[in-house]
Amino acid sequence: MNPQPNILKNVSMSGQTTWRAGGAARFGYAPESEQNLSLFLKSFQCSDCPIVFIGLGSNLLVRDGGLNALVIFTHRGLSVLNVMGDGANAIFYASAGVALPKLARFAANLGYEGSEFMAGIPGTVGGGLTMNAGCYGGEIWDCVQHVKTITPSGDIKVRSPSDYLIEYRKVTHKFEGEEFFIGAWFKFHVGDKQKARDRIRNLLKRRVQEQPLSKPNAGSVFRNPDDDFAARLIEAGGLKGRLTGGAEVSQRHANFIINTGGATAKDIEDLIVEVQSEVALKYGITLKREIHILGATIDS
Ligand SMILES: Cc1cc2nc3c(=O)[nH]c(=O)nc-3n(C[C@H](O)[C@H](O)[C@H](O)COP(=O)(O)OP(=O)(O)OC[C@H]3O[C@@H](n4cnc5c(N)ncnc54)[C@H](O)[C@@H]3O)c2cc1C
Repeated sequence: MNPQPNILKNVSMSGQTTWRAGGAARFGYAPESEQNLSLFLKSFQCSDCPIVFIGLGSNLLVRDGGLNALVIFTHRGLSVLNVMGDGANAIFYASAGVALPKLARFAANLGYEGSEFMAGIPGTVGGGLTMNAGCYGGEIWDCVQHVKTITPSGDIKVRSPSDYLIEYRKVTHKFEGEEFFIGAWFKFHVGDKQKARDRIRNLLKRRVQEQPLSKPNAGSVFRNPDDDFAARLIEAGGLKGRLTGGAEVSQRHANFIINTGGATAKDIEDLIVEVQSEVALKYGITLKREIHILGATIDS
């Protein structure tokens, strides 16, 4: 690898993920801007080191053996948030590192409706685009006009939603090669500022009541199967409160796994597998993971 002045080494990922568990990344880089990231990638050379982008780590488990990769941390530096035009012509731009609740409040405070559902999703625009994050009937890609991407060698591109296959919590690109999200243009509709703010307030209140927010977690672990709810199946299977090491199926919301303190990534992954196999045994339904798992186990 060529020498890089600001490159971080051996970066603990438990501090970078909301589960507060997991091993270290071989290299890390926190770009100051989209341009800075492009320059960095153009000069970065490491033949055996894949590139991984990470936002707020709110949908991610990094195994205890760590990640042999260069991790790009988008949250601090990729922070542009603005609006061009006004009225019905307004187009919002948010860089990949902007937190989704920040984008929701920004649009609501300017009197636009349609972004409120993002207020309770504790991830970034980049993570949201990757997962097609959504809730309460809204999904991020419903609001996207275009996205800005970057290739591993630092070339910046603009893509349309039609370049992707967009499904429930799953987005697949149709083009060749790898690209990461560095920003997106959004359209929301002109509405009532107070109504949008009230909707955000109510939605956040609902989340505090329904979700185990006082313990480290990564939101819903499994996608809902067709015509059913993962949480319902897990609860009906008697799995609420099931413990593996420091990981527990939340008593409050059965599709959440919480870190009760000191859980390893292995505890969490073992519990995920256990829940999957018990639900499959009892109901014949294979729950698919919503969360992403990266890295190596400690003994591999
Ligand atoms: C309490 C709680 C509640 C939640 N509620 C919801 C909800 O209601 N709806 C919902 O959809 N999700 C929910 N989530 C999950 C999570 O917040 C979302 O999936 C969010 O979009 C993840 O964003 P992130 O920035 O944290 O992504 P990360 O966890 O950092 O990354 C997720 C994946 O995206 C990739 N990635 C991240 N940034 C980029 C990028 N710029 N380019 C390419 N790939 C990238 C990562 O490599 C990883 O594979 C919740 C999580 C928590 C903790």
